Amino acid sequence: MNLPADVQNIINVLESNGHEAYAVGGCVRDCILGKVPHDWDITTSALPEQVKALFQRTFDTGIEHGTVTVLMQGVGYEVTTYRVDGKYEDGRHPKEVTFTASLEEDLKRRDFTINAMAYNDSRGLVDLFGGKEDLDNGIIRAVGNPRERFTEDALRMLRALRFSAQLGFEIEADTYQAIKDLAPTLERISAERIQVEMVKLVTSDHPERIRDVYLTGLTNVFFPEFNAMMECDQINKHHMYTVGEHTIVSMGLVPNDKVVRLSMLLHDIAKPVCKTTDENGQNHFKMHPVKGAEMARAVLRRLKFDNDTTDRVANLVKNHDDRPEINERNVRRMIIRVGKDNFDDLISVKKADTLAQSMYHREEKLAYIDELEKAYKAIIEAGDCLRIKDLKINGKDLIDMGLPQGQQIGQVLGTLFEEVIDNPSLNDREYLLKRAKEIIAQ
Ligand code: ATP
Ligand code: MG
Repeated sequence: MNLPADVQNIINVLESNGHEAYAVGGCVRDCILGKVPHDWDITTSALPEQVKALFQRTFDTGIEHGTVTVLMQGVGYEVTTYRVDGKYEDGRHPKEVTFTASLEEDLKRRDFTINAMAYNDSRGLVDLFGGKEDLDNGIIRAVGNPRERFTEDALRMLRALRFSAQLGFEIEADTYQAIKDLAPTLERISAERIQVEMVKLVTSDHPERIRDVYLTGLTNVFFPEFNAMMECDQINKHHMYTVGEHTIVSMGLVPNDKVVRLSMLLHDIAKPVCKTTDENGQNHFKMHPVKGAEMARAVLRRLKFDNDTTDRVANLVKNHDDRPEINERNVRRMIIRVGKDNFDDLISVKKADTLAQSMYHREEKLAYIDELEKAYKAIIEAGDCLRIKDLKINGKDLIDMGLPQGQQIGQVLGTLFEEVIDNPSLNDREYLLKRAKEIIAQ
C-alpha cells in the first residue's frame, strides 16, 4: 500500500517517538479497492497531548474523543488515540470513551469488517476480522455481533446500506436480519446524522439501494412518505411501475448531483395523496407537483437540510411536469419561473422521469424535451433579458427622471420587464427611457 508522503511522515514521527501509528478505516478500505481515499485517518497509541506536542500545527477537533487534526501543508489529517467506546446508554453516544494501548481494541469498536483494517509499512495490513476477504467478496458485515453493534449505535444500520450503495456490496445475512429487527430504534438518531448517510446513499453509484432502506423498515422511521410511494400503484398508460419503483429507476438515470438526485427521489412524493381513480379504473394524480413541492420541503426540513438545497429541490419538484407549448414567449417565461441556473437540472429530471415511465408515447415525450432544451439554449445564446437586472435601464435612471425613491421604482421596472420578456427587442435604453416616461405619466 502506498501512503501519501504526509501520512507516512506523521506515522514516522509518532513511531520514532515510541508510539504506534497506522492509517485506518475508510482510507485503507479505499486503497485496497484501488480508489483514491478522500481523506486519511490515523490511529495511534499516543495520547492527544502527546500528539499535539509532536507536531507544529494542530487543532483540537474532537479532543474529548481523542481526535487531533494535524495540519501538513494546508491539509488536515485526523489523528485519533486508540480508544474503546464506553457503554452506549441511549443507542447514540458512548457515555464515555476510554483510551487504550491496544490497536485490537480500537479496531473492535469500528462498524464493519471492511472499515476495521489498519496499515503501516512496518506491520503491513492489520486485518483481524476478515475485512480483506469481505472486500474481495463484496460483503458488508458488522464487526462482532450485529445486534449488539446496532444496539450501541443505531446509525450503523443506515451506514450499512450507505456502504452497500457506494460500493455495490451485499449485506451479510445476519447483519441484514439485525437491521430488520432493530430498524425502529433508528428513531433515537439525530436528523443531521441521518441526512449525512442519506446524501451519501442517494448520490452513490447505486441509489437503487434505497429500496433496502425501505425493505429493512428504516424509511418508515424518518421518511414514511417513501413507504407510501412504494405502496402506491399507478394504473395508467403512462406507467409500468409503482410510484416508488418509478422513483428508484429514475434516480439511476440522473447525474449523481445532490440536488438532482434528491429532486428525483422526491418528484412524485405527493402522488399517493393526490391519487384518484376514474370510471375506467385509471389513476390520476392532479396537482401532484405543487403539493409535492410542499411535501418535499417538509421532508428536507425534517432532515435538517440547508435552505438552498431545500429551495432548489422544491423548485425542481414543482416544475418537473410543466409542459408549455414551445414558443419563445412560453419558454422564456418558464426559464424565468424555474431560474436560468436550474434549467439544465430540470431537463435532466424530465428526461429521467420519462425514461422511467412506460413506452407509451415515449418518443414524443423525449422529442418534446429535446425541443424545450433547444429553445432554452437559443434564448440563453441570444442573451435575452431574463431578470429585472438585465434591463438596459435601472432604478437610478428613474430617480434621475424625477421619480421619488421607493416602491414606485420597482413597479415601473416590473412593468417594463413584463413587456420586455415577451419582446426582447424592446430592451433598448432609448426606448425604455421613453416608455418609462409614458408609464410614469399614466
Ligand atoms: P467515507 O468514505 O464516507 O469517509 P469512512 O469509512 O471513512 O467512509 P467515516 O464516517 O469517515 O467513514 O468514518 C471513519 C471510520 O470510523 C470508519 O471507517 C469506521 O472505522 C469508523 N466509524 C465511523 N462511524 C462509525 C460508527 N457509527 N460506528 C463504528 N465505527 C464507526
Ligand atoms: Mg472518512
